[in-house]
Amino acid sequence: SSQRAAETARELLALARDAVVEQADSLGALDAIAGDGDHGIGMSRGLEAAVAAASSLPAGAGLSALLTAAGEAWSEIAGGTSGALWGAALSTFGRVADDAGAQGGEAVSAAVTAARARIAQLGGAEAGDKTMLDALLPFDVALRSAVAEGAPVATALRQAASAASGAAQETASLRPRKGRARPLAEKSLGHPDPGAVSFALIVETLADWADA
Ligand code: ADP
Ligand code: MG
Ligand code: MG
Repeated sequence: SSQRAAETARELLALARDAVVEQADSLGALDAIAGDGDHGIGMSRGLEAAVAAASSLPAGAGLSALLTAAGEAWSEIAGGTSGALWGAALSTFGRVADDAGAQGGEAVSAAVTAARARIAQLGGAEAGDKTMLDALLPFDVALRSAVAEGAPVATALRQAASAASGAAQETASLRPRKGRARPLAEKSLGHPDPGAVSFALIVETLADWADA
């Protein structure tokens, strides 16, 4: 049910927060190479706010209501580009997952595809621009194909998270064409995009949870 999915989402937001807070310094250092160094702080604050908003909703709230509240809090409190994009993506994910029946691989995959489209639309980035989309696109593709082949959700998530992690590391060879890192594009060469790395960290955390 949507309520059960909302309970799961609450738990996963807290796990994502723990993982990001633990890596906040290294995400900040990565963002300091060509950006403004606030990616670890912004992601931590955003996730803290999302967790707080999710836990202040009544127990019977559905997935869409929960993730909309969490996403709005994330955008508002985190500030920054990644906060606006993650916040909007969370709301879209919740709405589409609810419409698709909230649980199971197909609902999750449809919601990921919609969140990816929302981020692309809001941020205007394309594949190869060295943004979080460079991890999210392969994640979406791998998840969709694993689900289409009938893989269990945990297996599909594991494969998709591995695709995201590999792709996040591969952004090191790209020059940023969007966001704050663009003016210092040459400095960024040889280092992965912070938003792609934090995306991979979060989906690896979800995959670990699903595997356990
Ligand atoms: P800010 O750049 O506002 O300081 P953050 O440091 O939190 O925000 O996030 C930076 C990350 O946001 C980048 O590493 C990149 O992954 C992502 N990003 C920046 N601009 C865009 C965009 N237009 N579309 C998608 N992602 C973007
Ligand atoms: Mg930044
Ligand atoms: Mg900033």
